[in-house]
Amino acid sequence: MTRSKTNMPFDLGGRVVLVTGASSGLGERFARIAAASGARVVAGARRIERLQQLHEEARGEGQDILPVALDVTDEASVIAAFDAAEAAFGPVDTVIANAGINIAGSALGMSIEDFDSMSHVNFRGVFLTAREGARRMIAAGSAGRGTGRILLISSITAHQVADRAPIYCATKAAVAQLGRALARDWAMKGINVNVLCPGYIETEMNEHAWELDGGKALLASFPRRRIMEASALDAMVLYLCSDASQQTTGSVLTIDDGQTL
Ligand code: NAP
Repeated sequence: MTRSKTNMPFDLGGRVVLVTGASSGLGERFARIAAASGARVVAGARRIERLQQLHEEARGEGQDILPVALDVTDEASVIAAFDAAEAAFGPVDTVIANAGINIAGSALGMSIEDFDSMSHVNFRGVFLTAREGARRMIAAGSAGRGTGRILLISSITAHQVADRAPIYCATKAAVAQLGRALARDWAMKGINVNVLCPGYIETEMNEHAWELDGGKALLASFPRRRIMEASALDAMVLYLCSDASQQTTGSVLTIDDGQTL
């Protein structure tokens, strides 16, 4: 494993990385570690004030994180985010399609609006983000260089269903298969598409769940009886975004501290 001067496990120097859902949780961490690894980073989400704060903090550490207002469900917004990225840093060669939501509850009482919201953010949004990224990479000549990287954030719930999350689980399974299909679609375009399925990590998405009976029972079912740290994903995320993953495409990788055992 090569170490960059930033002391991160993979060097992303020279890369332009666009991360969706970077205003909190995992996406914010991905933006920070990409910047710390030498990339210029475009951080997209709807809560622009959060992204502004991330930008300021990164700047204090000599890193480039550009805040961009982005709604991944809206194609025009996705295109505008890539335009802003390109204007600031040049063509994006690395995409982390991370934005996602869960609206908990049984399918029986779920409104069609909630069904659509989860489908639109978690699946349509990932597709729009990945496709726009691929179009830009191809236009910038990725086929000749093999440097395009697209990482889709799925979940262990793609493989193992969770209580009170039927549509969330289904969208995450769709993302996993979409990643494999896009990897094949773009195999000759110099773009690698991979999928990461994290286990449970405490973020705004689930922060109150662990105090509830269902959350406590879930935690007790994990072999190590613990929620994962977001940092457990760092090395894999950076590898999949780096030149080192040149022959890794179409992989669906689980990192879950054994939670699904
Ligand atoms: P989080 O803290 O709630 O982050 C979700 C992010 O998605 C926020 O930045 C949010 O930003 C963004 N987002 C939501 N709707 C959006 C939209 N329409 N357009 C653009 N951005 C949007 O939760 P998280 O846990 O970090 O989740 C990040 C990803 O990891 C999700 O895909 C989730 O399914 C996945 N994941 C999480 C876990 C876990 O245990 N935490 C496990 C496996 C997978 P705004 O509201 O500002 O737009």
